[in-house]
Amino acid sequence: MAKQVVRRRSQRQVEDVKGNRGPADLDVLQSLVTEMLLAIGEKPGRNGLLKTPERVAKAFAFMTQGYHRDIDQLLNGALFPIEYDEMVIVKDIDFFSMCEHHLLPFYGRVHVGYLPNKKVVGLSKIPRIVDVFARRLQVQERLTVQIAETLKSNLNARGVGVVVEARHLCMMMRGVEKQNTIAVSSSMLGAFRSQPQTRQEFLKLIRRGSVADSD
Ligand SMILES: [Zn+2]
Repeated sequence: MAKQVVRRRSQRQVEDVKGNRGPADLDVLQSLVTEMLLAIGEKPGRNGLLKTPERVAKAFAFMTQGYHRDIDQLLNGALFPIEYDEMVIVKDIDFFSMCEHHLLPFYGRVHVGYLPNKKVVGLSKIPRIVDVFARRLQVQERLTVQIAETLKSNLNARGVGVVVEARHLCMMMRGVEKQNTIAVSSSMLGAFRSQPQTRQEFLKLIRRGSVADSD
């Protein structure tokens, strides 16, 4: 049965030219969750679990909705011409993602900075860009780079810096079982890479009140 289910999914989830996929297939997800409950020794028919497959399917559809969000559509009408050429910073953007190795959450904060090149993006769009990439199966490093490259190319920015600080449940609940470890990743593009002063300014401005400091 499981094999049949997987085949149905792969037929439906065809990527379009931009690599976007359609919404999650809730029916298939539900049957897989029932299979999973059986496989771990549970009884999917017992009272507490009756609606679990439906709930989990909906939760997974929500947590992976980034697969069918389109960046061009998101930024449509949100780019503004401007002469301002100082650094723009949006820090402490909360995010929740899921590691692609264990399907367990990792979560934390994203800090974004960029040097505009005659245009800026509406500030509220930056957290939404973060969500587009966080709401997929991810590894932290790729999430970091995707956010940075998306901003660099869509804004034609002179430079972009992205720092992600995250806790990984796959490290906390299992594996090394380290509860207080924070993984930090960064991506520096353009002037943020080539000019140490620019990079330092960004790192200084995001440092105050970071996740790492609050512990
Ligand atoms: Zn993991």
